[in-house]
Formats: sequence, structure tokens, C-alpha cells
Amino acid sequence: MSADHNPVPDKEVLPVDSHDTVARTPTVPLGRFRAAPIADAGPIVNPVFELRDVNIFYGDFLAVRDVNLAIPRNEITALIGPSGCGKSTLLRSLNRMHDLTHGARVTGEINYHGHNVHGPGVDPVEVRRRIGMVFQKPNPFPKSIYDNVTFGARINGVKGNLDELVERSLRRAALWDEVKDKLNESGLSLSGGQQQRLCIARAIAVEPDVILMDEPCSALDPIATLRIEELMRDLRDEYSIVIVTHNMQQAARVSDRTAFLSLDVKDDGVRTGIVVEYDLTDKIFTDATDRRTEDYITGRFG
Ligand code: ADP
Repeated sequence: MSADHNPVPDKEVLPVDSHDTVARTPTVPLGRFRAAPIADAGPIVNPVFELRDVNIFYGDFLAVRDVNLAIPRNEITALIGPSGCGKSTLLRSLNRMHDLTHGARVTGEINYHGHNVHGPGVDPVEVRRRIGMVFQKPNPFPKSIYDNVTFGARINGVKGNLDELVERSLRRAALWDEVKDKLNESGLSLSGGQQQRLCIARAIAVEPDVILMDEPCSALDPIATLRIEELMRDLRDEYSIVIVTHNMQQAARVSDRTAFLSLDVKDDGVRTGIVVEYDLTDKIFTDATDRRTEDYITGRFG
């Protein structure tokens, strides 16, 4: 755990995303097929994250090495690659979740709106409020649907009408119509897909500007998966999303950009995760520059 628990002046250290600096076209309607990307191949202006020379260790083990990435605002960025190459490790470093893992540490800079999340005085709790996370297995609390949504908001002292917050968050997570008449029932009574959307509503309720998703559909059936994918496309208007997925079709369907990670194996057998290629998703999937990316995408490896 870091020792930096001091609350800090909000805007000074981690400015709120004003969404006003990235020119982009409106999102197209969601459907079964991949929507047209908003991303273009130009330089990434005002990225939500800029990683510089990031290395991530578990004890002495270097799990991920030399990551330099700019992650755009209001896009969906996918991290793909073979099992164990460090996708989740990299994702968790973005909101300092690794602080909670014994022995995990990061070197280099993880800049969020231009401010290093490991900088002096940065409060990791505030970092995690602004950069929310949705996990592989839906994990609603054993509480009512209503209390699940308000849980983080209550802890974070979000002011205002909680009924409105619940409705707004559930609508945003495309769950309201299915649960509006049973808000007092347990979140655990919902289907897997509904539970995951409830977790997304819970994440949204604390007003983050980034949502990290760690294989959010891997426990869901294809219909529930599709609904989450549609929801993601819808949410990127308001949020920047980074998703880890082992499902390449999913990355191709939902993401604007893709980073392909792989394992670099040294002569002594030590394996370290590296980012091999990072580009527009369409480019990665149709015209990868690196042979290793192409081999993985086409199923020759991994
Ligand atoms: P991926 O998400 O690509 O499957 P991970 O990020 O889970 O990969 O793991 C990357 C490497 O870090 C693997 O070698 C894994 O065993 C190791 N690792 C992950 N979590 C821990 C941990 N808590 N302690 C020690 N090693 C870990």
C-alpha cells in the first residue's frame, strides 16, 4: 500500500475531464454490427492517460515492461494478448488497484489528465472514484438493487436526491426498465448480465470519467454479452473506457483502438509482458504492422 493517503485539492491534482478538447463526430446508433469508429489515425490530443516507461513488478518479478501509451478520451481502448502477458496487471495499474496487492509496484509515469497517479499527495481513493472498475465476474453486494447503486455514492458523500441518482445510473446502464419495479430486491436475484449492468450502474453512480473493464463479459452468455457491448458503445460518449478481453471478436466489435500485448521470452526463460503494437482497431485487425500481432490475430499463436 502507498503511504499517500492525504486528501488533495480535487481539481488541482486530478482535474475533472471537461470533455471539451477532443473534436469528434457523434456516435452512430448501436447495433449488432460494429459501429463506425470515432477514432482517426491522427495524433491523440489530450489523452486521458499517458503512460511513460511503465514497468510493473510483483516483488522481484517484472510482469510488464516499458509501456508507453497514450489512451484517448471518449474512446474504447482494448488490451488483448495471450494469457499471462499482463493485460489485467496493466489495467489495474491505471487506477492504482495494485496498491491493494502485496508486493506489487509500478515504476515510470501513469499520467491521468496530465497528473501522475503516483504523484505526491494524490489520494488513491479519489483516483479509484474517478477511474472506476468493472470486474470479470459480476459482483453485486448482497444488498438491494437500490443500495447497490447508492453504495459508492453514500461513501463518497455524493449530494443530491438518491432516488434520482438511482434512476439516472440504472438508465445509463440500460437496466432501469428491467428493475424499476423491484428496486428493493437483492442485486443477487438478477441474471448474470443484469448483475453486470448493475455493477456498471454502481460504477457510474460515483461519477467517474473512466471505466476500466476486466473481461466484463467472460462470465456471460452471448445475448448478455451483446447487451454489455452495446452499452459500452453507448457509454463512450461520456466516459473513456479501457477493456481487457481475451475475446478478439469482442475487441474488434467494440473498441476504437487496440493494444496487443505479448510475452517477451529471454534466453534464461524469463517472460515479461510488452506492448507489441498499438493502433486503431481496424488497422490492428486488418493490417497489423508487427508479425507477432498478425500471428496472434490470425490464430497462428496464442
Ligand atoms: P493477463 O491478464 O494477460 O492474463 P496478468 O496480468 O493476470 O495477465 O498476469 C501477468 C503476469 O503477472 C503473470 O505471470 C501472472 O502470473 C503474474 N501475476 C498476476 N498477478 C499476480 C500477483 N498478484 N502476484 C504475483 N504475480 C502475479
